[in-house]
Amino acid sequence: MTRIYFDNASTSPIDQRVLDRMTELMAVQYGNPSSIHHHGRISRSLVEESRRKIATILGASIGEIFFTSSATEANNMILKNAVRHLGVSHIITSPTEHPCVLNSVSYLKEEQGIQVSILAVDQYGNPDLDQLNSLLQNRSSNCLVSIMHGNNEIGTVSDIKTIGELCAAHGALFHCDTVQSLGKVSVNVNETYFSFLCGSAHKFHGPKGVGFFYMNMDNIIPPYIHGGAQERNMRAGTENLYGIVGMADALEISVNEMAQHKEHLLRLRSHFKSRLSNELEGIEYNGNQEDAFLYHILSVSFPATDKADMLMFNLDISGISASSGSACSSGIEADSHVLVATGKSGSRKTIRFSLSKYNTLAEVDEVVDKLKTMTPVRS
Ligand code: PLP
Repeated sequence: MTRIYFDNASTSPIDQRVLDRMTELMAVQYGNPSSIHHHGRISRSLVEESRRKIATILGASIGEIFFTSSATEANNMILKNAVRHLGVSHIITSPTEHPCVLNSVSYLKEEQGIQVSILAVDQYGNPDLDQLNSLLQNRSSNCLVSIMHGNNEIGTVSDIKTIGELCAAHGALFHCDTVQSLGKVSVNVNETYFSFLCGSAHKFHGPKGVGFFYMNMDNIIPPYIHGGAQERNMRAGTENLYGIVGMADALEISVNEMAQHKEHLLRLRSHFKSRLSNELEGIEYNGNQEDAFLYHILSVSFPATDKADMLMFNLDISGISASSGSACSSGIEADSHVLVATGKSGSRKTIRFSLSKYNTLAEVDEVVDKLKTMTPVRS
């Protein structure tokens, strides 16, 4: 059975060009970037070349890009250090953020006693910007706003330009989790006011276990991991050389080929939606559908039936890897926090299908054909 992979928002297959470059380097380039001899200097130049590539894509300065092991680490580092060292005592966020943001914010509330405001979101997951404006106007302390760019479960894209403007106008820091949008949507620090943003290589056909963050020069924070002087003292530990090179190449490829893949993915998504809506009973979509959405994500709610709970399992045994719109903890499936926040929780079954440049129209057809044997069809 040839399997179909529709879980690219979770992680994406590595681009062959990235893999080739990384494996070539692994074979020959083993110098430690911190060593001052010949081998070390070549590795250092590869790390710095990668930093330059990422900075150029984002319109940032080279000194504003820092490498990490993941976006989870980057988000933890930014939020915790903003409280510890930038005097932030109030965080405004949204209920649909990734758990690495929400759990860091909860930790900071419980352990450091910071004030936390959670914005209301509409049924599509768009945060209430009037509420944000009024919270910023009435703030009594140093404030950080943490709102993601593109939502990983339902694909809604936030109006980060306006959010950035509000933050700038009120002197608040703006942290934006750009993990799902990088390589899909243009992100430039000269066009939107950001204090911090972050990325994760495996979401844009790069390797797993490497990420980065952008930190505006005005907000330099002290180290979070102590040790050597790597990453200009910000994040000690021998650099993940191959991962860093792979990440920069993968981001460059994604950005250079963005227009072509966007067109392909929009075609797949629209064909997928039209077949689902026309051929299956009671289909609903989650997240923005008309304008600001991530075109690789389609979150679909299926009607509650006897077999609905088995939908993920049945897709898997039919050769289709997708993701459930629920969180599984201790064997008990709970509604996802994103669906709960958007008022979409309940007995319906939600599946997130997330596509990549490697998927085809024929695969979309096969998935719909198989779904027709698992959930009610339209008469
Ligand atoms: N933020 C968002 C929006 C994500 O989708 C993810 C991964 O799913 C993360 C952060 C965490 O990324 P990483 O896998 O690099 O820890």
